[in-house]
Amino acid sequence: MTTTALTVELPAAVAAVRRATKLCQKVRGAMVSPETMQKKDRSPVTVADFASQAVVCAMLADALPNDPIVGEEKADELRQPEQSDIRSIVVEHVCEAMDKVVDDDTVLKWIDRGTADGSTPRYWTVDPIDGTKGFLRGDHYVVALALIEGGEVTAGLLGCPELTRGDGNGAVMVATRGGGAFQLPLDAEDERDTSGEAVRVSDITDSSQARFCESVDSGHSDQDTSRSVAASLGITQDPVRMDSQAKYAAVARGDASIYMRLPTRADYREKIWDHAAGMLIVEEAGGRVTDVHGKRLDHSHGRRYEQNAGIIATNGHLHDAVLEAVAKALGG
Ligand code: AMP
Ligand code: MG
Repeated sequence: MTTTALTVELPAAVAAVRRATKLCQKVRGAMVSPETMQKKDRSPVTVADFASQAVVCAMLADALPNDPIVGEEKADELRQPEQSDIRSIVVEHVCEAMDKVVDDDTVLKWIDRGTADGSTPRYWTVDPIDGTKGFLRGDHYVVALALIEGGEVTAGLLGCPELTRGDGNGAVMVATRGGGAFQLPLDAEDERDTSGEAVRVSDITDSSQARFCESVDSGHSDQDTSRSVAASLGITQDPVRMDSQAKYAAVARGDASIYMRLPTRADYREKIWDHAAGMLIVEEAGGRVTDVHGKRLDHSHGRRYEQNAGIIATNGHLHDAVLEAVAKALGG
């Protein structure tokens, strides 16, 4: 398909991701303490999740008022009277990020702009915080945003506060279909500035030299099977375990050469906001992304990948070898 230049979309999306990522960092700095961790209090991630989706939706609505958004969150829970404390903290953070005073109802409506079902030819998908456990642990998490047109991902962005660049600060990974993949500074004088450095996957062709990454959460990816796949590929290095789509960024930058996400349940369907942006960034950095059976991710089934199982992302060179090893391990 032909790629539109995305001259309106890209600066708006880059600005939205930068603003939302910074908001999340601020919430984390202010709210997550060893005490919240001990109490297993998830309120900081709830606040950041809603506030981040509100900001992304508000900024996209401003630039592209007719574009539907498929978001992970909806505001129903936040509307309940018993949520009023959390709601006021969300609204406070959103007002600060948007640099204007708006009422609760406006913020709830912004969040609910993200309730589209993905049935239109063109829509955005947002994960306001992907990697919630990493967020609470002080580890990797991302703000993920992708544009889907005619079943193809045409733009993908990941705000990665913990993925440091040369200057020690976070990165925004950005790709457009046919336009390459780039790493931008999270902090930029002009938040709409889309300039950055091109990224490229690793050129490793010998699988035994590869570093592979996977989820920290063993409920999200079958770590026993990935261990045996890695052994059969001759990989001796331990896996790099990271939360969120930062794994795709790691493959796109060449920090790792393989990302395996092996199903833990036959009936789990991956969500589009968990993969669309990362997939395009790896592909545009020269890599390949399929499901565990080697099928392309099919973005024409609404909010979930109904026709796919798990994820394999590689630098391309290693893809067929990994698929073969996975098929054997899964008994295929
Ligand atoms: P990660 O940080 O890579 O472990 O992935 C986080 C994402 O995993 C969350 O955003 C969830 O949508 C998704 N998730 C939840 N349950 C499962 C599951 N059983 N298998 C795969 N992914 C899951
Ligand atoms: Mg997620």
